[in-house]
Amino acid sequence: MGEVSGMMTAGHSGGQQLVLAGGGHSHALVLRHWAMGRWRPPAATAVTLVSRSGASLYSGLIPAVLAGQAHPSACVIDLRRLCAAAGASFVQGEITGLDLERRQLHLHSTLGATSPAYRSLRWDWLSLDVGSVTAAPEGVAGLPVRPLEPFLDWCDHLPPVVEVMGSGAAAVEVVLALAARSRRRRQPCRLSLRTVPGGLRLGSAPLARRLEQMVQAQGIAIGPMTRHDPAPPDRATVLCTGSRGPAWLQDSGLPCDGRGRVLTHPTLVVQGHGRIFAAGDCGVVA
Ligand SMILES: Cc1cc2nc3c(=O)[nH]c(=O)nc-3n(C[C@H](O)[C@H](O)[C@H](O)COP(=O)(O)OP(=O)(O)OC[C@H]3O[C@@H](n4cnc5c(N)ncnc54)[C@H](O)[C@@H]3O)c2cc1C
Repeated sequence: MGEVSGMMTAGHSGGQQLVLAGGGHSHALVLRHWAMGRWRPPAATAVTLVSRSGASLYSGLIPAVLAGQAHPSACVIDLRRLCAAAGASFVQGEITGLDLERRQLHLHSTLGATSPAYRSLRWDWLSLDVGSVTAAPEGVAGLPVRPLEPFLDWCDHLPPVVEVMGSGAAAVEVVLALAARSRRRRQPCRLSLRTVPGGLRLGSAPLARRLEQMVQAQGIAIGPMTRHDPAPPDRATVLCTGSRGPAWLQDSGLPCDGRGRVLTHPTLVVQGHGRIFAAGDCGVVA
């Protein structure tokens, strides 16, 4: 099973169907353990991973890739290969919704116009590891750092003026990596970092001041975020302004916190839904 093709029952018929939604870190790790024989997959259960792409990106390495210190292939997790090695099926598609009553995931093919679109995948057990989306502040337009793939494509042709918005570690990493990239590629780019009033928020004031000095030492100006209309063509805004769960999780009726993350017990079982689990950025132990 390689693409979205009509109403599907995951894996083989007969047994239980476990659907892993999203190729995030937790699912990649579980598949790896199954593939290496360290853990055993659940008995009499067909496992299917569904994710928007056959490869997942390891975000911890993204700044190094941007800066040219690591090859792009170093951060790629080959989900198809992992599934094949773990005895799981892989479905490439964009999850657009979740029907709790019918136990179905709604999918949209990401394989191009020729593939049938809007299909469903049925599950008996569901594990969610779909990560997060960038939470843009109201009134601020820009390119979100997540999803990572379009952001990385955009970085290939940096405009002459770029402002990075955000007050956390990701904003610092991204602005410093872009500075290193423009130097290495000899692509002149005037960079600035726009934070909330008062500067970086890193849980430690001395650390925040130290990192602000490091950023400024690279010739990067730091100033407060302002609301503005979409940037003119020669200037771009990159949003590293925090994350929230994808909207379809909350729309499905699952219990979520104020940032749209699914509420779980410490076992990662979703509150009030004994057959659904959530891990990584899309869930929160409450
Ligand atoms: C630039 C940057 C640097 C970072 N550096 C660090 C760091 O050094 N250390 C650290 O701990 N954290 C870091 N983070 C945070 C880290 O990225 C996240 O906490 C982590 O990626 C969360 O992993 P995850 O498994 O929840 O989701 P992800 O890694 O985002 O994986 C989600 C997967 O689900 C797929 N998916 C998502 N939505 C759908 C959908 N609707 N349909 C189908 N598939 C879907 C995606 O394609 C992806 O494969 C960084 C973040 C950024 C932006």
